[in-house]
Amino acid sequence: MGSLKLDHPQEDNSNSSPMEMTSALDPVEFRRQGHMMVDFIADYYQNIDKYPVLSQVDPGYLRKRLPESAPDNPEPIETILQDVQEHIVPGLTHWQSPSFFAYFASNVSIAGFLGEMLSTGFNVVGFNWVSSPAATELESIVMDWLGNLLSLPKSFLFSGNGGGVIHGSTCEAIVCTMAASRDQMLSRIGGDNIGKLVVYGSDQTHSALQKASQIVGINPKNFRAIEATRSTTFALSPESLKLAISSDIEAGLVPLFLCATVGTTATTAVDPLGPLCDVAKHHGMWVHVDAAYAGSACICPEFRHFIDGIEGVDSFSFNAHKWFFTGLDCCCLWVKNPGALISSLSANPEFLRNKPTDSKQVVDYKDWQIALSRRFRAMKLWLVLRSYGVVNLRNFLRSHIKMAKLFEGLVAMDQRFEIVVPRNFSMVCFRVSPWVATINCKLLEAINASGRVFMTHAMVGGMYVIRCAVGVTQTEEKHIAMAWKVVQEHADVILKNHGDDGDANLKLALLDKIA
Ligand SMILES: *Cc1c(COP(=O)(O)O)cnc(C)c1O
Repeated sequence: MGSLKLDHPQEDNSNSSPMEMTSALDPVEFRRQGHMMVDFIADYYQNIDKYPVLSQVDPGYLRKRLPESAPDNPEPIETILQDVQEHIVPGLTHWQSPSFFAYFASNVSIAGFLGEMLSTGFNVVGFNWVSSPAATELESIVMDWLGNLLSLPKSFLFSGNGGGVIHGSTCEAIVCTMAASRDQMLSRIGGDNIGKLVVYGSDQTHSALQKASQIVGINPKNFRAIEATRSTTFALSPESLKLAISSDIEAGLVPLFLCATVGTTATTAVDPLGPLCDVAKHHGMWVHVDAAYAGSACICPEFRHFIDGIEGVDSFSFNAHKWFFTGLDCCCLWVKNPGALISSLSANPEFLRNKPTDSKQVVDYKDWQIALSRRFRAMKLWLVLRSYGVVNLRNFLRSHIKMAKLFEGLVAMDQRFEIVVPRNFSMVCFRVSPWVATINCKLLEAINASGRVFMTHAMVGGMYVIRCAVGVTQTEEKHIAMAWKVVQEHADVILKNHGDDGDANLKLALLDKIA
């Protein structure tokens, strides 16, 4: 290659003349490629049953397949989509597969998907009202709609001087509410006392609470993960909370924040909100309710009782991106006192000054969250609520709960298995005898390696349990029946091999003790 060509690399290649950047948003081209993309995704859903649910690739698989650097010249969408099919799809764990029963689902729907398309299509950055009034106003409206669906007390709605905001995740919601509670408390007891503030949850509370307290500057020694009570399916007992608080006060510490959970990650336990609030409020604490997964179910009147006592708390959040057909990311947070959030989280540089803000007539959501920039997430929630209507949404949720009940019934009929905790929502915790972790872990690994289903585990009260969490949009009863068949088939093999070895039971029990 001569030096001239190096200086002008484009000149000798007529196929790849530089693009005008304006053509990167040419409507005609967008229509062509957009249709192609919709077809690609529709095909993906049509074939999703054919892929192993849990990706079977090895670490580093992708670096071996892709070039070392980005292409100098444009490549056509057709080629890129081929590579997606060939190289990316095998490395996906298919969260939207009807045979996905791991973690908690993060389900999506046509409406959620189209809402996401619209919000990406507009790509407005609605940090304050004036930067896109519709983004802010729609968010306030759908949060009031949803709040009403959950029968939240009026004090959480804009009409009752509270309000709702959409965050990206529960972790952010807890960080922001904890920061608000910290500043409220420090204004009472003096900023020097931050080292005395104590945060409470149970040992079943999501790790988001610990992360938040680290970020918010709580002394790591003042983080309390109180042992949950086994006899109440691993819920936090008000008595235990009371004891922990008393001993902290005796030690000169200041109780700050309680995170109660409705639907814990391990077993979907429900902390008793009313009695816990009675204890916490006695000490002027902030109470947050994390209902990331189970909150959705509370739009059904028959499940609303799980958040009884909500009137006593300060903030409440649930992830519409888990079990509300909305797609990542969409964590709905309501607070009774937006002023507390705003005074902790607001910053008002000159370049953001504007008349509507000065008039105090508008919501500026930048002051309700960590980041300045924010996506128009309300759009997808609005589309989901409108496209399906409350009647259908309730029925979708009920059908998942019914399928979990079906799975529970199948497990209960096989005497080798046990249901570990009573089922509250759409998740079943079970294990196989012998109850040792080694056997149950082996069983889980075998069913996941089959690629036919994907489930995950939890450790609770020293027990290794397998979790079957129903919640994917396209799961039907036949998938539940198949999942149970897969579990039974692998249990047959594992228990047979295990039985062949006389001492195996004892050995495994010992191994468990050591582990
Ligand atoms: C999933 C989950 C979380 C974490 O949610 P993010 O939005 O990922 O932060 C927190 N708490 C509970 C109970 C959950 O189920």
